[in-house]
Amino acid sequence: MDFPQRLIEGYSAFLSERLPREQNRFRELAEIGQHPENMVIGCCDSRVSPEVIFDAHPGELFVARNVANLVPPYTPDGTTRAISAALEFAVLALKVKHIVVLGHAQCGGIKAFAEHAPPLSPGDFIGHWMGLIAPAAKAVGPRGNRPLADYLARLEQASVIKTLDNLMTFPCIATQVERGRLALHGAYFGVATGELSVLDRATGEFRRVAAEQHAKAFQSPRF
Ligand SMILES: [Zn+2]
Repeated sequence: MDFPQRLIEGYSAFLSERLPREQNRFRELAEIGQHPENMVIGCCDSRVSPEVIFDAHPGELFVARNVANLVPPYTPDGTTRAISAALEFAVLALKVKHIVVLGHAQCGGIKAFAEHAPPLSPGDFIGHWMGLIAPAAKAVGPRGNRPLADYLARLEQASVIKTLDNLMTFPCIATQVERGRLALHGAYFGVATGELSVLDRATGEFRRVAAEQHAKAFQSPRF
């Protein structure tokens, strides 16, 4: 099978538009190395690319993505965990100042858990992985009479909060947070609306940010 044509076209666009604008930045980053201040833990979902949402340039975001933006609790048992390796590198080598757990609306992983979706393969990798959100589901409580969309949104947001708790089980993260050198944040992106909300740790609520700019962006007809 040929290399996807869409990717070759995308690379061609990168060569003609973005690379000329950012070539110096790429060269500099190659020489001095990367020093991103922000790490984002996002979902694999193709609609929620952190670099797009935060308009990031090369070298600005250290990103780890997995199904439903989860982090298992610290378990130094020798098991290979991509997210643990990424966290270790971000915190101890890059010394990022912020870790943002970016949840999102219409998350397929969360929906699969809520609907008890049957395994896609005998390994049931998604089922095992999504089992990580059982504590968040417990915190949200049964769906009851809530509309499914509301229940899923609550679960998506509760899962972000649980993931923040799990991050604090990593000794290197807890130490840096206690020393005031690292801050953990929760965020939630509305795919259909483009709205971004940030977790207020004091109340446990997600609050809109840049709501005025968001309203302006939708005020004037763009076509
Ligand atoms: Zn997702």
